[in-house]
Amino acid sequence: MDLYEHQARGLFEEHGILVPRAEVTASPKEAREIARRLGGPVVVKAQVKTGGRGKAGGVKLAADPATAELTARRILGMDIKGHTVGKVMLAQPVNIETEFYVAYVLDRAAGRFLAIASAEGGMEIEEVAAGRPEAVARIPIDPAEGVTSAKAYEIAKAAGLPPQTVDVLVRLWGVLVREDAVLVEVNPLVRTRQGQILALDGKVALDDNARFRQARWGAENVVHDDPLEEAAAAKGLNYVKLDGEVGIIGNGAGLVMSTLDVVAGCGARPANFLDIGGGASARVMADGLSVILSDPAVKSVFVNVFGGITACDAVADGIVQALDAVQLTKPLVVRLDGNNAVRGRAILDEHAHPLVQQATTMDGAARRAAQLAHTS
Ligand code: GDP
Ligand code: MN
Repeated sequence: MDLYEHQARGLFEEHGILVPRAEVTASPKEAREIARRLGGPVVVKAQVKTGGRGKAGGVKLAADPATAELTARRILGMDIKGHTVGKVMLAQPVNIETEFYVAYVLDRAAGRFLAIASAEGGMEIEEVAAGRPEAVARIPIDPAEGVTSAKAYEIAKAAGLPPQTVDVLVRLWGVLVREDAVLVEVNPLVRTRQGQILALDGKVALDDNARFRQARWGAENVVHDDPLEEAAAAKGLNYVKLDGEVGIIGNGAGLVMSTLDVVAGCGARPANFLDIGGGASARVMADGLSVILSDPAVKSVFVNVFGGITACDAVADGIVQALDAVQLTKPLVVRLDGNNAVRGRAILDEHAHPLVQQATTMDGAARRAAQLAHTS
């Protein structure tokens, strides 16, 4: 989950990193009030979860409160790389002497964190790295040791940052650890003409697995890439939209993962990942089916259940009840195996539905679902 700049700014402030005075609003009128409170000129900044706002016209200097209102009115509602601006932040302008880049990012492949830092901040770091890779320092961080003063000094030295940035580098690591972030980025981190080090722009991405510990970030912060994922999340389903044509429901993440592979092995593409977990109740089955059936790309659905603690007859009952609740519009292939599979299959046979067919093996079911996807 990404945070907005003004939220990142708030975290930096809590961790003792200097930031410009600023307030956020969705209203141009209030923008004028804020500008008056801040006194003098203000920077009006679009709050969207994407970079390059400056280039897109989403960061503007306003000389006085009246201009701040006009500027806010112009920026609010603007589209920046597909993100609509709902709020602006008004910040006290800073006299920049130098712009730096600093970030800590989780390096999943290496099982570590990585500090990325450069004395050439302000621009997009990808551009700096492409043109002058030697200007970007990349220092691995052992998660158990973290960023001590000595480590921060090493990072600053490698990137050519002044020694005054050491304190900020240590505090920024504190943000990452205590806020459960997988990314913190400051671009630019600036040195002012008065010699202060300030975070002028911030990006923080939180670890979704730690959301239970970070309750202050409410649901309004979670942006789903896909409306179906949003609908599924609202029903508490573990659903990920993919771009194929075979809808997939299974119990247990491991089984669902291998189902994706087997379907792909049959020359079809999975339309989604959906793990209904251990329960597989009628409610969950109906919710899962309704989400999958509302994806227009889905041509067939494969329900793959291995009965363990949950017996297959209970799952079959769930499917039968779900078929009463949801109108089936696409062919459904069901494979039940494991605990009470025979009874489960008999229940589905008794409720013979014209669009439902059964298969006894996972491979056979996957082939059938793939064929149906190609012919329907
Ligand atoms: P981004 O384009 O989304 O990365 O937005 P930023 O907040 O980083 O702003 C882009 C650029 O605008 C910065 O790199 C600065 O050069 C400039 N900028 C932003 N705020 C100020 C400010 O208070 N004073 C000055 N002089 N420049 C600023
Ligand atoms: Mn920036």
